[in-house]
Amino acid sequence: MTEKCGVVGVSLAGRDAARPLYYALYALQHRGQESAGIVTHDGFQQHSHVDMGLVGDVFDETDLETLNGSAGIGHVRYPTAGSLDTSCAQPFSVSFKSGSLGLSHNGNLVNADEIRDELAAYGHAFTSDGDTEVIAHELARNLLEEDLIRAVKRTMQRIHGSYSLTIAHDDTVLGVRDPQGNRPLCIGKVEDGYILASESAAIDTLDGELVRDVRPGELVLLEKDGQGFESYQLIEPKGTAHCFFEHVYFARPDSVIDGSLVYEVRRELGRKLWEESGVETDVVMPVPDSGRSFASGYAEAADETTADGEPRPEGDQGVEFAEGLMKNRYVGRTFIMPTQDERERAVRLKLNPIKSTVEGKTVTIIDDSIVRGTTSIQLVDLLKDCGAEEVHLRIGAPPIVAPCYMGIDMATREELIAAGKTVEEIREVVDADSLAYLSIDAVADALEAERLDLCLGCVTGEYPYDIEGEASDRDVTRPEIDGPVPSADD
Ligand code: 5GP
Ligand code: MG
Repeated sequence: MTEKCGVVGVSLAGRDAARPLYYALYALQHRGQESAGIVTHDGFQQHSHVDMGLVGDVFDETDLETLNGSAGIGHVRYPTAGSLDTSCAQPFSVSFKSGSLGLSHNGNLVNADEIRDELAAYGHAFTSDGDTEVIAHELARNLLEEDLIRAVKRTMQRIHGSYSLTIAHDDTVLGVRDPQGNRPLCIGKVEDGYILASESAAIDTLDGELVRDVRPGELVLLEKDGQGFESYQLIEPKGTAHCFFEHVYFARPDSVIDGSLVYEVRRELGRKLWEESGVETDVVMPVPDSGRSFASGYAEAADETTADGEPRPEGDQGVEFAEGLMKNRYVGRTFIMPTQDERERAVRLKLNPIKSTVEGKTVTIIDDSIVRGTTSIQLVDLLKDCGAEEVHLRIGAPPIVAPCYMGIDMATREELIAAGKTVEEIREVVDADSLAYLSIDAVADALEAERLDLCLGCVTGEYPYDIEGEASDRDVTRPEIDGPVPSADD
């Protein structure tokens, strides 16, 4: 099961958390449209409302009014094909001897099955096959023997994979980021308290200010009086494995993740795309919406230098930038539709060219990524039908050749158009006049990172985690989980 989701946590001084959580979830809606949920705690009792659907549909006034308490967490869940199942909706909540626990998870564990089997042997009953429930039970078990901080530390020593978590232990809200910082999580200050969120855009929505990212391996505990937060570096990171695809596709362009504004990174990727593989055509246009920032960077770089890298001579108009593809914003989820036939129809429903911008012209279209190839194949065909003379395709990421195990739903290897193919072979399938992807080095440069600071599993097939049957690009020794549980002090 892969999950790519949005998480949030809020602790305020003397004001209900439900509404800020609701608005924050709205801001994170792009991270998940399948289900939404909020869990709050009023100091005596936990309240929860979780359902399938979009944030705006899941909560009505009455729901928000009954979610009492100034502390709480929220979650939006990304749909994966065929997973219309409430048992995986979050936040996950459990009550046990030492209180109540709510948990929101973004990411994916690679050793969830081992831990589930072990906990099941201790008598824990599971209601879903999701890994979030595994984390909740593991934490609940550790809380029987340890205080909160040590219990989280022990849990982090046992789970392996990617996780950004917001947790409500009774009315205490905390956030945890895995030791490699695979998924984003940041801290914000709002008027009367603090917030933890997957993306800073959620903090902006509450008129708050981004304080900083949660560090890999760090636990951040929000103080109940809304005056501050405590930080515990529970695991010293050996190195990071930030997901580059957050910057390429997944996050909002107006979010700042690990120090970079996503919009600027995408523009920079677009500039590098021109430098690496620019082609002079009559018009350049983005595949909306995700291709926009890339295309604006690409077109800007094309105004400065020619495709050969020479400064543009005086009087040379450069390339024309046009919004030649219109997107119907009421069509969602083309990517996760269950059959190829439906996905193709949905692309046609979603995107329509403006004929006059392409007729009789040579055209470059810019998209952020190609996964199955559905969008590209359809678009090239459509543009040619509209009278485009040539269609060139430029992609702001390297070829996606392997699945993601860390929480981004990338389809299976067999479905990925680039798996086992050269770029020329892909070009033939897509039927474009030319096709170029961005290099991995350009991605690392734009993120001001070393390759080994990033998780590049989907473009290299080598993962920064220990995954059965897959190669690793670094030392990924896992904590021993069959032996005695290490104490929180070591
Ligand atoms: P393809 O049509 O090649 O299968 O997918 C590529 C298109 O889907 C691109 O326009 C890209 O913006 C978008 N895309 C890439 N990854 C994802 C994803 O994980 N989920 C969704 N919904 N769209 C994606
Ligand atoms: Mg797109």
